[in-house]
Amino acid sequence: MTPPIIYDPVRISVIPDKNPREMVMLRGCGCKWKKCRFCDYHMDASPDAQANFELNRSVLDLVTGQYGCLEVINSGSFPELDEATMNYIEKVCIDRGIQRLHFECHWMYRKKCEALRERFRQKGITIQLKIGVESFDHEMRENVMVKGMAEDRPEEIARYFDEICLLFGLTGQSLASMEKDIRLGLQYFKRICINLMVENTAPLKPDAEVIRIFMENLYPLYRDNPRVDILLNNTDFGVGGEKDAE
Ligand code: SF4
Repeated sequence: MTPPIIYDPVRISVIPDKNPREMVMLRGCGCKWKKCRFCDYHMDASPDAQANFELNRSVLDLVTGQYGCLEVINSGSFPELDEATMNYIEKVCIDRGIQRLHFECHWMYRKKCEALRERFRQKGITIQLKIGVESFDHEMRENVMVKGMAEDRPEEIARYFDEICLLFGLTGQSLASMEKDIRLGLQYFKRICINLMVENTAPLKPDAEVIRIFMENLYPLYRDNPRVDILLNNTDFGVGGEKDAE
């Protein structure tokens, strides 16, 4: 769902091309799932809600509202952000004319999605929710990735979520499986974000041959599609990488 945390990461960026928006990487109390075998970025978390709020406020203060759209990620799911941060996000959106607000969320919190939409709808702000489906292939998603998401049907997932992330570059994936994931993603959701697996501290490792197949066959087809983000490196959105030394 979000880039891996490194010491003192960059927490704000501007994405000027596809779906122009500002993006902030905030800190919450931590992913409640933590079992995905490709992920180590859930380590960007703290149980100290006050410290999280102060950090998040300092990041949100940098948002300009230049595109009227803000994407909030937090190395987990939006319900893991403290209430003071949620209130501050709301204030920043209202003050800076942001009308579309993106959050990320695990399947386990799907029943909280409608209340979030309603809360912001009352302020004239449209919520877009992104879920890391990673693959519609049950065996790959649940037994290899251990995503913790029993639902396979895209039409059911789309009842709660607007956008999905897909994860490619793992042993067992093929051209056919990746094509199918993209096709279903574009059929049922507004946008998809394809992440290529990169080496990190988690157990799953990138499969260079699967990545080659993607790059040769699918990347040229979808690179310029306005509904498709492709992250060759998980810091490509500009957040999550280590800050330059000052
Ligand atoms: S849901 Fe999975 S991918 Fe997302 S932060 Fe938690 S462990 Fe990582």
